[in-house]
Amino acid sequence: MKVRDHISKAVEAHKTEFSFEILPPLKGQNIDTIFKNIDPLMEFNPPFIDVTYHREEYIYKEREDGLLEKKVVRKRPGTVGICAAIQNKYDVDAVPHVLCGGFSKEDTENFLIDMDFLGIENVMALRGDAVKSETYFKPNKNGNVYAQDLVEQIIDLNHGKYLDEDLLNSSQTDFCIGVAGYPEKHLEAPSMESDIHFLKKKLEAGACYVVTQMFFDNQKYFDFVEKCRAAGITKPIIPGLKPLATKKQLNMIPQRFSVDVPDALVMEVVNCKTPDAVRQVGIEWCIQQSKELKAAGVPVLHYYSMGKSDNIRQIAEAVF
Ligand code: FAD
Repeated sequence: MKVRDHISKAVEAHKTEFSFEILPPLKGQNIDTIFKNIDPLMEFNPPFIDVTYHREEYIYKEREDGLLEKKVVRKRPGTVGICAAIQNKYDVDAVPHVLCGGFSKEDTENFLIDMDFLGIENVMALRGDAVKSETYFKPNKNGNVYAQDLVEQIIDLNHGKYLDEDLLNSSQTDFCIGVAGYPEKHLEAPSMESDIHFLKKKLEAGACYVVTQMFFDNQKYFDFVEKCRAAGITKPIIPGLKPLATKKQLNMIPQRFSVDVPDALVMEVVNCKTPDAVRQVGIEWCIQQSKELKAAGVPVLHYYSMGKSDNIRQIAEAVF
């Protein structure tokens, strides 16, 4: 089933659904690592589960002769295969993330064809970030530059428009597309207005819904939704939530994601004496956020599990 239909069903039933995002396991680990994280969350009946995509990194290793050798490393491969495994094991729709970065348009087409063969109907279309060896995001040669271009390519395929002209009039796909939105503005966007302008373009190109970047102050989400509606965006905007889990994240999250952590949360975390206490503060904060968003009538709450489900389970027990 399409994510857009899951959302419509929740809206009609005046219900808030629970969904979450997982990371593929590190290379060398078993698929059971994934299932062990999903199992404890299935009793909350998620209509869909997202699986992130991690592009390759470039590292330079010194060879015996002293010269540097460039190596390509992908630490978390397997997004589409994991989605197929999830759909086979559980009665749930899996949503693979696909990026502009690291993909040529041909790679993208092949990724989508694999998804279609495997019965995966939903996809999250993202640009991706700069890799560690880049200062700014650099698209692939013959790759999509912005998420909007990627949405356009997926919609073209939905209309049977393949890159290979010999395949014109071949079978059509029917993907439902999600895109990212930023309640505190994307870090590269010059202004919130321009960011919302381009978000609208992604939706006009054919995306069906938005999932937001994490935020720790619900007012940021409410203001963002209001601005989007004023700009003429009518499609669903699903809040993305992440429970803070370590003291280190107080510095890492604002730096990496350009997201504010409210003073009250910072002080609670700073005063914690143990890692467990920090984790519990993050859980309680996220429960309060979730309850307020649920009371405001959001159709889905989407949680970033970052590969660990124990804290997400505690939140789901308190909220759903
Ligand atoms: P875009 O929508 O392309 O926007 C990028 C920037 O360009 C923005 O500043 C925007 O305002 C601007 N812009 C957009 N279109 C245009 C245009 N036509 N002309 C000029 N400027 C434009 N990253 C991963 O690597 N893997 C994942 O699985 C992943 N999952 C994510 C899931 C969610 C819900 C979110 C919120 C983010 C995720 N990310 C993931 C991170 C994401 O890839 C980065 O935030 C990335 O920097 C931007 O992606 P985007 O799709 O929002 O880009």
